[in-house]
Amino acid sequence: MNKKEMKRMIKTARKFAKPFRVTDDGFRLKDIDPGDTLDLTSEDKPRAKEALATGINVLAELQDMLYAQDRWAVLLIFQAMDAAGKDGAIKHVMSGINPQGCQVYSFKSPSSGDLDHDYMWRCMKCLPERGRIGIFNRSYYEETLVVRVHPEFLASQRLPAELVGKDIWDKRFQDIRAFERYLTRNGVLVRKFFLHVSNKEQRKRFLSRIEEPEKNWKFSANDAKEREHWDEYMEAYEDMIRATASKQAPWYVVPADNKWFTRVVVAAAIIDAIGSLDLKFPAVDDEKKKELAAARLALEQE
Ligand code: ATP
Ligand code: MG
Repeated sequence: MNKKEMKRMIKTARKFAKPFRVTDDGFRLKDIDPGDTLDLTSEDKPRAKEALATGINVLAELQDMLYAQDRWAVLLIFQAMDAAGKDGAIKHVMSGINPQGCQVYSFKSPSSGDLDHDYMWRCMKCLPERGRIGIFNRSYYEETLVVRVHPEFLASQRLPAELVGKDIWDKRFQDIRAFERYLTRNGVLVRKFFLHVSNKEQRKRFLSRIEEPEKNWKFSANDAKEREHWDEYMEAYEDMIRATASKQAPWYVVPADNKWFTRVVVAAAIIDAIGSLDLKFPAVDDEKKKELAAARLALEQE
C-alpha cells in the first residue's frame, strides 16, 4: 500500500469511528442505540466484511511500523456485558497482526495474591512494551463496574475502613484519569471500547448458548443471573464513561447487537488511533548505508 492510499484509509476510518467516540462528560448512554448500523443494512454485510478485511491489512502495516519505530505503545481496553462479543471482536480485528507485536491479557476475578495489592497492580504488570499493542480483555475498569454493583467484592479488597466512603467511585475515576494521563505522557496511546449490547440481544445470545451444543461451553448460569442487575450495570457504565472519557484517552461506545458492524467500528477506531501517530520506519543514516553497501559487496563476492 502506498503512502497516499494509507492516508486515505486512515481518514475514512476516522470518519467511520467518530460518531461513537466519547471525549467528555456530556455523554448519555441512551444516545447510543445498540442496534445501530449507521446507514448500512444487513445487505451491506458482505461489503462490511470486505471493509474489515482491508482494515485488517492497514492495521498490519501500521503495526509493522509501530514495532520498527519502537517509540509508542498502544493499550486497547475492552469492556462489555457478557456475550456482547468482546472475544470475537478481539479475535477478528487482530487476526492479521504479527503475534510478536501484540499481547492480550484477560482480567478475571482477582486472585488472593492480587487482592494483597492495590487494584491497579495486576494491570500495571501487563502494560504493553514500546512498539507493541496491548489488549486488556476487561481491566481496572471492573473496579468501578462489577465491584460497584456487588459491594462484597469491595469488602474482599480489605481496604482500611476510613478509605472507603461514599466518594470511593469518584476517587477511583480520578485515579484512573490520572493513570491514563501518566501513560499518555509516557508514550502509551490509550483507547477504550465499550461494546454496547442490548438486554434483549444478550438474552437471545444466552439462549443460543443453551440451545446449540457447540456453544454450551460458553454458557454460565452466573452470567445469566447477572441480568438481574442490568440497570445497575448500565448506570455504572454511563457514570464511568462520563468520568473517564478524555481527548487523550477516549471511550468508543460501539453498538454491539450486530457483530459484523461492531468489528468494523472497532477496527476503524484502532486504525484512526495508530494512524494518528507519526509512524515511520527508522531512517537509515550514512554510516548504516556504508555498512549495508559493504555487506552487499561481501555477500556478492562469496
Ligand atoms: P468469557 O465469559 O467470554 O470467557 P469473561 O471476560 O466474561 O469472558 P469470565 O471467566 O467470565 O471471563 O471472568 C470474568 C469475570 O471476572 C467477570 O464476571 C468479571 O466481572 C469478573 N471480574 C473481573 N475483574 C474483577 C474484579 N476486579 N473484581 C471482581 N470481579 C472481577
Ligand atoms: Mg464471562
